[in-house]
Amino acid sequence: MHDSHSMFLQDALAKALGADRVTADRATADAHAADWSDAPRCVPPLVIQPRTPEEVARAFAVLAQHRQRVVVQGGLTGLAGAATPQAGEVVLSLARLNAIEAFDTTGGTITVQAGVVLEQLQGHVEEAGWFFPLDLGARGSCQLGGNAATNAGGNRVLRFGTMRERILGLEVALPDGTVLSMLNRTTKNTTGIDLKQLFIGSEGMLGAITRLVLKLEPKPAAAQTALCALGSFDAAAQLLKTLRMRLPGLSSFELMWDDFMLAAGEVAHLKPPFATRYPVYALVETLGDAGDDAQRALEAALGDALEAGSIDDVIVAQSIDQAKQLWAARESVGELLAATRPHAAFDVGVPMDAMERCVSMLSASLRTRFPAQRHLFFGHLGDGNLHVLSGPYHDEAALHDVERLVYEAVSDAGGCISAEHGIGVVKREFLPLTRSEAELELMRKLKTLLDPSHILNAGRVMP
Ligand SMILES: Cc1cc2nc3c(=O)[nH]c(=O)nc-3n(C[C@H](O)[C@H](O)[C@H](O)COP(=O)(O)OP(=O)(O)OC[C@H]3O[C@@H](n4cnc5c(N)ncnc54)[C@H](O)[C@@H]3O)c2cc1C
Repeated sequence: MHDSHSMFLQDALAKALGADRVTADRATADAHAADWSDAPRCVPPLVIQPRTPEEVARAFAVLAQHRQRVVVQGGLTGLAGAATPQAGEVVLSLARLNAIEAFDTTGGTITVQAGVVLEQLQGHVEEAGWFFPLDLGARGSCQLGGNAATNAGGNRVLRFGTMRERILGLEVALPDGTVLSMLNRTTKNTTGIDLKQLFIGSEGMLGAITRLVLKLEPKPAAAQTALCALGSFDAAAQLLKTLRMRLPGLSSFELMWDDFMLAAGEVAHLKPPFATRYPVYALVETLGDAGDDAQRALEAALGDALEAGSIDDVIVAQSIDQAKQLWAARESVGELLAATRPHAAFDVGVPMDAMERCVSMLSASLRTRFPAQRHLFFGHLGDGNLHVLSGPYHDEAALHDVERLVYEAVSDAGGCISAEHGIGVVKREFLPLTRSEAELELMRKLKTLLDPSHILNAGRVMP
């Protein structure tokens, strides 16, 4: 609804930024009504589309003056509902802040605006022989600002860490219009409190990230990929340990349980990889040199495991196309998410030594209590990050029950309720299961310090 308040606000924003930076157009507003989660859609009255970091700060100054609530949006691929507008909020979209500003091709650092899409950055640096290792299924739409705000993980954390480890510097616009320019470009910097860390992973609660300085890696000449069929979770855990010891280039170890493989095959129309079904599959990737050494090392390690009986079968990709086929099931998560709606999508963290017990218990309880739903288990085993996709649930109460069941089990196992997607609105009530009251109180104090009128991303994260 475009009422007199939003017309007045639109006018003030147009004066500060230019008329083409703010719109009440219904089709545009519709496109900004939801992220990828199942949080209820809400069409915002206005969408602000700044083109420069300075315009973001100016927009905040106007919003603060009008005490207008606002939600920051990146590529809208978030799975926690944090970027979905709530009633009465306008949208601040960072999509037009998409310039690559400076590339130090000698030192291997790059300065980008927050709206640059992950895949665009990956391609850009690879042309110059560098590599940005953060990688996830949403690469074609998610933005680097969103990746930082959610401290995104993905497929290669095992070797290269999460987004936090990629960030040397950040520029942030605070909700009162102040700009914190922390565009550090050196790996070492011991000059007081490292303020940028407050904004990484805090889901836009404290400010809008406008620029990032990112650390690159030398581009690996080749990737080696294999899919292993395993008899048990324990066999997978042992294989991971062996490969970590033997293969310094090990970059991914993705685990998929049999039901996940079956469902992925259905939604993505894939042929089963092996003639027989196995309880668990591990997708292994190493990144190394172009010669045959890395391939030989992978084949030798997996050959020994096969001979020792610790894996049951294995396919080692012999071409880039075959590697893509091996990744296809793991990459079908977007389709699986769509096919199980309305669903509960979990991204919990579980310590390695508690993982098997936790998965067996959850798998048995979910199947007994919710027999009509699908419960698919997969994850980034090397990071203790377990995904469970469970659905569809057409009954709100059942959805809530399944969430409580999973989060309590994870909390009892000493894990955390989100290892990568964040809390947003969908996990907010469960946050006290993994954060103490003293921690929550400090988070509240920080929020109030930086955003005293609570205009920015209000009602997210904190219970
Ligand atoms: C198919 C698929 C696969 C995925 N796989 C993974 C995975 O493997 N690992 C993983 O970690 N995540 C994964 N995700 C989740 C998602 O892609 C990430 O959370 C991503 O980092 C979000 O980026 P975005 O730009 O889309 O952010 P949005 O969805 O737009 O926003 C997410 C949050 O960040 C805030 N935000 C966005 N931009 C800014 C900014 N510039 N400044 C301050 N706050 C901001 C928003 O307010 C919101 O709180 C996946 C999602 C999909 C759909």
